[in-house]
Amino acid sequence: MIEKTDNQILKERWALGSLVLNLVLTILKFIFAVFTGSLALVAEAVHSFSDLIASIISLISVKLSAKKSSEYPYGLYKLENIASVVISLLLFFAAYEIIREAFFSQEERTVKNTEIAIAVMLFAMVATFVYSRLELKAAKKLNSPALLADAQHIWADFMSSGIVIAGLVGTYLGYADFDKYAAVIVALFIFHSGWEIFSSGLKVLLDVSLEKEELEKIKKIIYAHPAVVDIKHIRGRIAGSFKFLDIELLLHNFSLRETHRIVDEIEQKIKEEIPNIDSVFIHYEPVRQEGLRIAFLVDDSKTVKDFKAATQIITVDISEDGKIQINNPLDVEPDEKEIGDIISKINVDIVVSSNHPEEFEVRWKLARAGVMVWETEKRDFEKALNEIVRSYNEFNKKVKEKQND
Ligand SMILES: [Zn+2]
Repeated sequence: MIEKTDNQILKERWALGSLVLNLVLTILKFIFAVFTGSLALVAEAVHSFSDLIASIISLISVKLSAKKSSEYPYGLYKLENIASVVISLLLFFAAYEIIREAFFSQEERTVKNTEIAIAVMLFAMVATFVYSRLELKAAKKLNSPALLADAQHIWADFMSSGIVIAGLVGTYLGYADFDKYAAVIVALFIFHSGWEIFSSGLKVLLDVSLEKEELEKIKKIIYAHPAVVDIKHIRGRIAGSFKFLDIELLLHNFSLRETHRIVDEIEQKIKEEIPNIDSVFIHYEPVRQEGLRIAFLVDDSKTVKDFKAATQIITVDISEDGKIQINNPLDVEPDEKEIGDIISKINVDIVVSSNHPEEFEVRWKLARAGVMVWETEKRDFEKALNEIVRSYNEFNKKVKEKQND
């Protein structure tokens, strides 16, 4: 369902890299926590373990939850979020246990082999420092918020290793309680990351909306399509790592076939530019229009041009009772195919040009969209408009006379 780009593969490699880093750190810290008896190292080991679990969840669930079945036709995206909530509860418990151990344990705790514990933590510091710097660079290059968040998290891990080292050095110098203090600070780190996992998981379980910026970006993509008059409503929700969109549009076009193609185009564009979209539902309504809509092909000085030379399209609406409304000009590239394409999408009855389009493809496209090409000798936009309005009024008068006969 999701096509992998080179960027996607790079991103997955970085995510896998931090998983391996956390695995190594977890194992090292657990071993040396037992070996040295340092509570701060125990806390650090739990912390690394929680990071490891978080990366495993996000990596596996992307693969697992995208599988759809007849029983779960919308996919199992939320498995990821259920797992996050469960794991965050475990983290709260672990942090609580560490704090309890630090303050209320009757047992006398002595740290042995402090030098080795310091060496292990120094290794952790260097590893997290280097990895977080490199990942930060990659995140900026790949423009990935997920990698950026991961790099920032590993940076926080680097800081927490520093605190543990400070505690161990204090212990080494004879202040035995420093190890406990360091453990309590790390426990607060665990609480914090537990809270983040918990709240993001819970939000998604409750169908949190897409981020505002992302919705704005989607709106921009939609408005960039010439057939779109207005977005009546748009909403999106997230399940797991995937996004669902629900959009209602007001469109220029009446023809069912053409409208269907337009909606497909918009959907395609959104999927190209926004990552991890599962599905887009677009409902649409044509703009109600009576009277006549005329498009004039002109250049920047309002001189009537043909399909190859026009740089603007001015649409004019003439109501049944003869009211004329001149709309804001639309800037276009002077390209026959492109202009033909736009004209066929904005529900125009007549296009006024100094020449017919040359290419058959453009002629057929206009015919299919029900657009008549009106060739005019007039070069001035106002004069060309007058010519049409006058003949339209004359025609209407004749029709009425006939009706009255
Ligand atoms: Zn962490």
